Amino acid sequence: MPTTRQIVLNSRPDGWVTPDNFRIAEAEVPPLDEGDVLVRHLYMSVDPYMRGLMNDGGVAYASGFQIDAPLFGRVIGVVDSSRNPDFSEGDCVYGMLDWAEWSVARGGESLRKVDPDLAPLSHYLGTLGFPGLTAYVGMMLIGKPKDGETVYVSAASGAVGQVAGQLARIAGARVIGSAGSDEKVRFFTNECGFHDGFNYRTVPSIPEALRLFCSDGIDVNFENVGGANLDAVLAHANPFARFAMCGMISQYNLKEPYHLRNVNEIVSKRLHVQGFVVRDHSHLIESFIEETAEHIRSGRMSVAEDIVNGFENAPDAFIGMLKGENLGKRVVKIADL
Ligand code: NDP
Repeated sequence: MPTTRQIVLNSRPDGWVTPDNFRIAEAEVPPLDEGDVLVRHLYMSVDPYMRGLMNDGGVAYASGFQIDAPLFGRVIGVVDSSRNPDFSEGDCVYGMLDWAEWSVARGGESLRKVDPDLAPLSHYLGTLGFPGLTAYVGMMLIGKPKDGETVYVSAASGAVGQVAGQLARIAGARVIGSAGSDEKVRFFTNECGFHDGFNYRTVPSIPEALRLFCSDGIDVNFENVGGANLDAVLAHANPFARFAMCGMISQYNLKEPYHLRNVNEIVSKRLHVQGFVVRDHSHLIESFIEETAEHIRSGRMSVAEDIVNGFENAPDAFIGMLKGENLGKRVVKIADL
């Protein structure tokens, strides 16, 4: 069996994640038992939810990473050898696997085959993966945008945001985005067909920007950011607006969370505010992939990825994503197929 590098949790962050929270370790890959699959990793996903798993106790829906143990996350790989009848050598697979170059999927658990002929493999970690499905669940099952309504998407150029906005545009809504650079705003307006948007770092204030860009109010809010962004949307939302509460990335590294001032608007405007976690909707992934691959093939949907090369660069890629360095879905490329 091969040896592998792994990225292990060296220490827990106190506020912002730092490179010394991670360490690279060498490990022997264990032999395969009946049902196991040996996977050579090609791409690893760096995702905001992993920040919560670095805390002691993890998050409400998942337990956290253990000190001195490898981190784990979404991986695309290729089957090197298999003692599982459902997987053969050469199959391309998706799985929740260790942050490593190689790993053994015990009993083939969490593995799913992906089709390299349908789309580039990295897409299965972004637009055709759980970030895309997150956008679908939040926008189409909770937001339910209607023709002519105004939809607002924060972190709009990111993995989830770019798909969420494009789904709303396909549904006939007027879509406004916000992001942290002019280049990101150009991407989602020019390439993703958002109707307009703004750079939240350079506008005088978010409330003022929402008054300008969403002059008819907001009917659907796809919330990726939280904090001051959410406060401003609460104040600017129309009565009976739907809020798909996807994430609060502005809060994940703060020691002192932002205190919302406008929660009373939920009552007075009779808002529908619904949190959700994509893993509760995993059963939709295959039909989602089929539908979304067709959107991409027909040119209705654009895809932006941000690929960082080199396994050892995963910690920096993760920290950079939390700081907004990425344009589109950030993945780490480990090896060629
Ligand atoms: P992205 O690809 O959007 O990358 C993260 C982006 O967040 C950065 O590029 C940055 O973009 C933005 N950001 C970081 N800090 C701030 C800040 N203080 N204020 C505003 N924006 C900030 O990541 P994802 O698409 O994977 O995730 C987007 C959101 O969706 C996150 O909140 C995540 O937790 C959530 N999520 C929720 C899931 C669920 O099941 N509920 C599943 C997957 C993701 P910018 O330059 O624009 O600031």
